[in-house]
Amino acid sequence: EPALSIRGLTKVYGNGFQALKGIDLDVQQGDFFALLGPNGAGKSTTLGVVCSLVQKSAGKVTIFGIDIDKDFAKAKYQLGVVPQEFNFNQFEKVIDIILAQAGYYGMTRKEALPRAKQLLSDLGLWDKRNGSARMLSGGMKRRLMIARALMHRPKLLILDEPTAGVDIELRRSMWEYMRRINRDEGTTIILTTHYLEEAESLCRNIAIINQGEIVRNTSVRELLTEL
Ligand code: ADP
Ligand code: ADP
Repeated sequence: EPALSIRGLTKVYGNGFQALKGIDLDVQQGDFFALLGPNGAGKSTTLGVVCSLVQKSAGKVTIFGIDIDKDFAKAKYQLGVVPQEFNFNQFEKVIDIILAQAGYYGMTRKEALPRAKQLLSDLGLWDKRNGSARMLSGGMKRRLMIARALMHRPKLLILDEPTAGVDIELRRSMWEYMRRINRDEGTTIILTTHYLEEAESLCRNIAIINQGEIVRNTSVRELLTEL
């Protein structure tokens, strides 16, 4: 079964605006997948529905075969999410933000501490663990959200514009890290981006979304032969 399957997904916002017009999408297990499109295309809305942050108007979404309408509580354990906006309490300590997440997913402290140490070290944040999150640079905050999303070892990692506003050097190191997670841990990764270069450099498969519709769904290799 696919890691993610979307059928006939429609979203009409409260103001009557139709952000998604019946989207179909499959992402296979182990894939590194890009949802590419200009600002306003419907990328965040799509991910919002998958993460159950946005209520869909119609359609069906399954995560590893679990229908999110029937059992989101179960699907949630397979899912790690890195939103675009910083959504942690800036006044908390870095280590507390990470450990709170572990608690939320039912990990014991004994499991959580080594995992936190590994992730924070890999992401260059271990030295910052006892400082408050508001002292971190923008790039560090983004990496903190990645560490937090990976704590409970999700099989599917979803990142909304992970490198937006990040300088080129950090962008490359984040790319390297995401490749490693996909390759070494077999984590399926889906990211949204409006940079073709990012999709090209990282991803195997790609869907292009524009004005709430998928206009192309192909491998990156195939797409590049046409450009
Ligand atoms: P829903 O229909 O899913 O309940 P709403 O229309 O109630 O969504 O809007 C949810 C939130 O998004 C509100 O706080 C609203 O101000 C904000 N919002 C409204 N229009 C936009 C827009 N074009 N882009 C981003 N956010 C918006
Ligand atoms: P993207 O992530 O591709 O930039 P979004 O999914 O954020 O696109 O937005 C898709 C469209 O839906 C945009 O036109 C946006 O203005 C609109 N939109 C997003 N959120 C809301 C909201 N809460 N209420 C009304 N319109 C919204």
